[in-house]
Amino acid sequence: ARAEQYPDKPFLLNCTDDGDRREASGAAVTFAVLRERCRALESEFHLAGLRPGDVVSVFMPNGIQTAALLLGAMYSGLVVHPLNLLCQPSQLRYIVEHSDTRMIFDCDETKDALAAACAESRRRVAIVHTAPDALELPALPACAVHEGGDDGLADVSGPRCGPSDIALLMYTSGTTGAPKGVLLSHGNLIANARNISAEHRLGTEDRVLASLPLYHINGLVVTLLAPLFHAGSVVMTPRFSARTFWRDVARHGCTWINVVPTIVAYLLGGDEPSGLDLSALKFCRSASAALPSDHHRAFESRFGIGIIETMGMTETAAPVFSNPYEPARRRIGSIGLPSGGEAKVIDRDGRECAANEPGEIVLRGEQVMRGYYKRPDETAKAFTKDGWLRTGDLGYRDEDGYFYINGRSKELIIKGGENIAPREIDEALLRHPGVLDAAAVGVPDSAYGQEIVAFVVRRAANGTGAPGTEELLAHCLRELGRYKTPKEIRFVSELPRGPSGKVQRLKLVEPAPD
Ligand code: ATP
Ligand code: MG
Repeated sequence: ARAEQYPDKPFLLNCTDDGDRREASGAAVTFAVLRERCRALESEFHLAGLRPGDVVSVFMPNGIQTAALLLGAMYSGLVVHPLNLLCQPSQLRYIVEHSDTRMIFDCDETKDALAAACAESRRRVAIVHTAPDALELPALPACAVHEGGDDGLADVSGPRCGPSDIALLMYTSGTTGAPKGVLLSHGNLIANARNISAEHRLGTEDRVLASLPLYHINGLVVTLLAPLFHAGSVVMTPRFSARTFWRDVARHGCTWINVVPTIVAYLLGGDEPSGLDLSALKFCRSASAALPSDHHRAFESRFGIGIIETMGMTETAAPVFSNPYEPARRRIGSIGLPSGGEAKVIDRDGRECAANEPGEIVLRGEQVMRGYYKRPDETAKAFTKDGWLRTGDLGYRDEDGYFYINGRSKELIIKGGENIAPREIDEALLRHPGVLDAAAVGVPDSAYGQEIVAFVVRRAANGTGAPGTEELLAHCLRELGRYKTPKEIRFVSELPRGPSGKVQRLKLVEPAPD
């Protein structure tokens, strides 16, 4: 549809050092070129022996080729499966096996890791080598996985797939256990692409810097599928770099950016964007983990760009909550209002909580997944009896309908029967100028059931020296009171993070089995 309406409009741009020139010379992928590529891929996939519903994986950093392959596979009625570049070898092996993928696209950067993962696999997988920013489609080898004369892709007349067909297999971040393969339909994805476009008032003049990886639901749906929906443009960067971030935003005239809290922290520690023209930039969107309130304020005052905090899950094709577009209606520390669906907070018995009463956040809406791939047990646990998706996130709704997340149910600290949200302790520690990063966890305790231990990464020692245990405990006492002050502070050089950069709090106390 977009190729009919805006054939010559650039949709995908490679953010290379000669970015401006390539764009001007027409080397960007326009909507018409994208359609051509999708059609070409469809017939290539068919010749290779793939059939609707087969899984193909893309294991590459962001680039116009990566984006075209993801979209081309969906267009062809295949189930596309983006692979996370930061997977540990054991995770990669597990996911390649579990996904039942038939074909994997890799590139120079990923080929060794993939070869190692596939070496021990008994599955027959066709591997296609290309480059994320390549301008030509790769040739596909025949993988002839289907015996007999069943109907191939090219024999399908009319639309390849309907709204309830699966378009995407995306694994969760694995923050609280093994990653789960989320099945999302075309309908789920379109619902959220539409929802994001409306929520942030995006249109054909908008342009986003795709600095978050397309192998996460946030990068894929927010910075590729939503722009396809509102016919905007996407500038593809292979990875986030604090050194080049503002320069790329300015040079390409981006009107919005999409970040995670770790990026906010990096940008706050980086250089001023002085001398750069950021006048086109309307807002910065943040999701994926809690954005510490101090970082939120510091970013806004330093760079003069408002942040819209949102919350999403792989299971919901990205956002389900968003702060409003109007700056005056946004609330720092809140994930905002339900976006594109309904949400409520329930207690342990499933009853809806009153305003400000803590419980688990549950949701329903058009963007909620069909289930987990080959994990009926997990799928059953993910929904309440009456069909609401359990987020596993603890929080509350205030009297104005804004939602707040305090932490995950699996990470809640219960001290002497009192529920303590680790986030409250993390944020108190982060308010100390000598603390760079912090994560509190509960450890077994004979008197209280659980006690609080805080893991702290200190800033490099400055003139006054890095804070010691006593100083931090005194700081916590002032900020949190005696009951919530950690029993112990442990200094570490960094916190364990999963492949999407989120802190794996549970690993601090008990290393997860491989
Ligand atoms: P796994 O489900 O494998 O343990 P994960 O939950 O981290 O990993 P994702 O689907 O990537 O996998 O992340 C969704 C979760 O991220 C949400 O359930 C929530 O806990 C957290 N999250 C996302 N946005 C926010 C936010 N703005 N504030 C707080 N938490 C957030
Ligand atoms: Mg999760």
